[in-house]
Amino acid sequence: MAHDPASLSDAGRDLLLGSACVGCARPGRVLCGSCAVSLPRRGRVSWPSPTPTGLALPFAAGAYDGLLKALVNAHKEHGVLALAAPLGRVLGDVVHDLLGALDAGREAGTVLLVPVPSRGAVVRRRGHDPLLRVTRAAAVRLRRTGVDATVRRLLVPAGRVLDQTALDAGQRAANLSGSMRARRPCAADRRGRVLVVDDVLTTGSTAREAQRALEAAGVTVCGVATVAATRRRGPDGTRGSLPFSEPGH
Ligand SMILES: [Zn+2]
Repeated sequence: MAHDPASLSDAGRDLLLGSACVGCARPGRVLCGSCAVSLPRRGRVSWPSPTPTGLALPFAAGAYDGLLKALVNAHKEHGVLALAAPLGRVLGDVVHDLLGALDAGREAGTVLLVPVPSRGAVVRRRGHDPLLRVTRAAAVRLRRTGVDATVRRLLVPAGRVLDQTALDAGQRAANLSGSMRARRPCAADRRGRVLVVDDVLTTGSTAREAQRALEAAGVTVCGVATVAATRRRGPDGTRGSLPFSEPGH
């Protein structure tokens, strides 16, 4: 394709890239009806392996594969903004189930969704902040189901990080250490239940760094909600089992 997506307006990108379903390539809407109904409606425990020490309870809707992966990438990298709503529904349902696991009979209160921050250069290259957009859609979904959810951008990037792609879990953790800081929380931030949100949980290092930065500012993190979680990799890099598992390892 000769067009540079970054040079196109939002509507133009949707028009250009939205001529077929991102899930099944059927001509028409960016997400066809049958792919939309096949999206996961539940969140599940998704501990990465190995789990970063002290990581708050992580929930995801499914493996970072197939339709979920196609949705996340088309929205994030290709600016198919119409996918923010279905991704937000998925993330909202993950948060809903995570809250159920956390609360178990406790009184519901305000839920603060804190997105992992995107670096300014990355936002400029993409032309939008995909995670913030999906998090806002998730908050809308939650409020419609009676959950008092609000998006709080408490985290900002700090320091330098290298591209994570080629790094293993230990290297990612070292690379990310100190890479975020929290804005000064207000009193309401301390009273609400704070969840870190991200699109994909890989090693858990990013979520753990977000949690560290918030805790350093006096904010307690109750859990981590992501759209998808990568499958575990075998020692030779082969595809491993699903990440979903019970806590305790
Ligand atoms: Zn489809």
